[in-house]
Amino acid sequence: NKPIRELTQGILEIANYNYEKRLDMSEHEEFREVADSFNSMAERLTEYRTSTLNDILSAKKFLEAIVNSIHEPIIGLNRGHEMLFINKEALTVLNLKREDVIRRSAEELSLKNDLLRRLVRELINPGEKKEPLKIYADNKESYFQASYITIMNTDADTDESHNLGDVILLKNITEFKELDTAKTTFISTISHELKTPIAVAYAANDALLNFNQAEDKTQRDKYLRICQEQLQRLSGLVEQILSMSMERRKTFRLHPEVLSVGDILEPLIEQHTLKSEKPVHISVDIEPEDLALTADRTHFSNIISNLIDNAIKYSPEEAEVNIRCRQINAAEQGELVEIAISDRGIGIAPEKQSHIFDKFYRVPTGNLHDVKGYGLGLFYVKTMVGKHGGSISVKSEPGKGSTFVVRLNKQADD
Ligand code: ADP
Repeated sequence: NKPIRELTQGILEIANYNYEKRLDMSEHEEFREVADSFNSMAERLTEYRTSTLNDILSAKKFLEAIVNSIHEPIIGLNRGHEMLFINKEALTVLNLKREDVIRRSAEELSLKNDLLRRLVRELINPGEKKEPLKIYADNKESYFQASYITIMNTDADTDESHNLGDVILLKNITEFKELDTAKTTFISTISHELKTPIAVAYAANDALLNFNQAEDKTQRDKYLRICQEQLQRLSGLVEQILSMSMERRKTFRLHPEVLSVGDILEPLIEQHTLKSEKPVHISVDIEPEDLALTADRTHFSNIISNLIDNAIKYSPEEAEVNIRCRQINAAEQGELVEIAISDRGIGIAPEKQSHIFDKFYRVPTGNLHDVKGYGLGLFYVKTMVGKHGGSISVKSEPGKGSTFVVRLNKQADD
């Protein structure tokens, strides 16, 4: 019977998602009503499909916008590991082009891409230990930590869940890695610096405890002096560490006041000349004589004191130091006070000059430990000059001497 067959055929088409199917029963009066109902059902189904499709499409657009606005690399793979989506950051990090990857198999792409290969391998073997990925781009090394999210869907009828695919997220951890390295270096340098004076003072103290009364006083005084020196060295180190951490505090503040350059220099020169074990000649030349500036008294003194200290320390036998202070009028910066501290010491090789202001940096020399220091003085000086809105530079020639030039605003910034 033809109309029945046609109806059955129509139902099958609908069951196969062909919602375009319509029945024409104009020749069979008795089936017309059935056909009308069938056709309006098909109509509804078509409408329903278009609207759900639209909903899905707009939800997809939202998701795409979110994925693309995330500044960490993100990749989406379907169950067969085909690339469903990949954002700009991931393309950059993996050095891929969008048109080459969408809908392509990640395994196939990874044949020519080491980083992708690693990600796919880790995705397939979740138990494997996951080291951060090292990526070299833009002339610098970056580190990324990958995390893998499996997308599951639970079937409403059977309650069974199945895998729809995976999302790979990469987190840029370069900054943490750098901080971690800096912290490790800092701790090991500090521990090393602390160990030596402690060991020396310990030994001297031990000798004093076992001291035989019969032995002479000079010997005993020698040990006491060693203890004293080592304690000084320790307190000097602690002092510099404190000043270093102090400037990083949020509450750090300068206390600017009007200072006479001559008044600040005079006691400093006296102290340095007195405490030095070698002959020291410090000449001062201030023009105008009453040169003044607005700066933080403590830090300004410390800046100058550190530079004088170095000028003496790095002059092997006899220290010839000249301090020249001038007022200069720089077109853009206004009135500046320039303080130049020169010595005729060992000097600094040109290629080392850019490093001497770094934390813990000391120019490597065979007999480095002849001159005591922690490589923090110039770091402190540069930081504090910076806090004052000023600048510091160095001119030096090995064997001839060095000149450190500090320039500070005559008036405080605000
Ligand atoms: P340190 O405690 O080692 O003196 P600084 O930060 O003050 O630390 O100086 C860093 C390094 O710069 C020194 O170890 C030294 O090698 C070099 N340096 C600093 N000032 C001078 C100078 N006036 N002459 C020669 N070298 C200097």
